[in-house]
Amino acid sequence: MRLRNKPWAVKLVQEHPESVIDRPDPSQRIDWSKRFADISKPLEIEVGPGKGKFITTMAEEHPEKNFVALELQMTAAGMILRTKLAKKLSNIQILCADAANIASFFDSHSASKIYLNFSDPWPKTRHEKRRLTYKSFLQKYQTVLQENGQIEFKTDNAGLFAYSVQSMNNFGMHFDFVSVDLHNEKDEIVAANIETEYEHKFAAQGNPIYALHADFGV
Ligand code: SAM
Repeated sequence: MRLRNKPWAVKLVQEHPESVIDRPDPSQRIDWSKRFADISKPLEIEVGPGKGKFITTMAEEHPEKNFVALELQMTAAGMILRTKLAKKLSNIQILCADAANIASFFDSHSASKIYLNFSDPWPKTRHEKRRLTYKSFLQKYQTVLQENGQIEFKTDNAGLFAYSVQSMNNFGMHFDFVSVDLHNEKDEIVAANIETEYEHKFAAQGNPIYALHADFGV
């Protein structure tokens, strides 16, 4: 998804270097202890948060955790930043960068969760390597996640879901939760679910939402 360029978003990002790390040099590791007030809190990362409804709601509901929104598009980063500032969320940082470099930005085994929500499906076979559940990405997530860390993945795209299950299974990952209709699961599962912008749109159109939680085992 490509958002239309919004000049205000670029300006806002430039005005808030304390909240946004804008296209960092992948050869330089980021010192997260300088960015979060309490680095001992569990760290959770969303890759491709878009406008950021999910991660900003998570940050609001979980002050006991730190969150990083890793987003390629500057306009989306600006939109997340706007919510962060409006809600005074001190436990979220925005990293405007390509997830292909995720392992350069975080210490090994430093995160407890990685969320992949409605990732671009890249349906053409020749674009397989761009899918965020391609094996090279899984390898990097494994480096960044703690040993008991989890990936939580949601999509409306049946093709991407089937591909991701296969890719994770081939990688030797373990599945802790799999649903082919998340919004019609047991009440407590539905109640705990935090919707993303895409999820809201596709579920309203009557599409089932696919979801899984998986880990790399020990
Ligand atoms: N997660 C949001 C939702 O569910 O509403 C947005 C989904 S949108 C289809 C995918 C998002 O992933 C876009 O904002 C895009 O810029 C971002 N994205 C795609 N590839 C990425 C990458 N390699 N690194 C970081 N972000 C990426």
